[in-house]
Amino acid sequence: MSAIHAVLAARALLDALTPLKTDCGRLCAGACCQGDEQTGMLLFPEEETLYENCAFARVHPAHFALGGAQAKLLVCDGHCNRANRPLACRLFPLFLAFKPDGGTRLRMDARARSVCPLTDYGLSALDPAFRQAARAAYDLLLEDDACAAYLRALHDAFSL
Ligand code: SF4
Ligand code: SF4
Repeated sequence: MSAIHAVLAARALLDALTPLKTDCGRLCAGACCQGDEQTGMLLFPEEETLYENCAFARVHPAHFALGGAQAKLLVCDGHCNRANRPLACRLFPLFLAFKPDGGTRLRMDARARSVCPLTDYGLSALDPAFRQAARAAYDLLLEDDACAAYLRALHDAFSL
């Protein structure tokens, strides 16, 4: 499976699920979609190919590498067609942590703490279906070498 196939399969698992069964954006006025030209969502390996002619967002190079390749950010207008939202938006506010024994576990993304009110309540506050789909999505990504290297690098760079 190539990176883009793994990314598309992971995205599909999270097509219809969100962190809560209700619209969590009503808690925070959609805080995670209120970025600006200086911020954006990190794209997974090869995911930038899906946004070459995108009406609602632009791909910007980041000033750092992840998994041996230059990282890329999707900077959006704050609204999108949900079917086209990037994988990072679908997984938010979750993060994949690597354990010393090589295993992995889901946890809240420390980078989300200043934005997302859900991070105060822990994983158990999230819809179990969302958590299970995110775990399955990460497992699919870990089967692809480029995506696995990206996730490991993300852990090393942003594990706070
Ligand atoms: S910031 Fe958190 S609570 Fe708000 S819309 Fe995003 S995921 Fe939901
Ligand atoms: S791409 Fe969509 S879901 Fe992601 S931050 Fe932008 S508006 Fe929000």
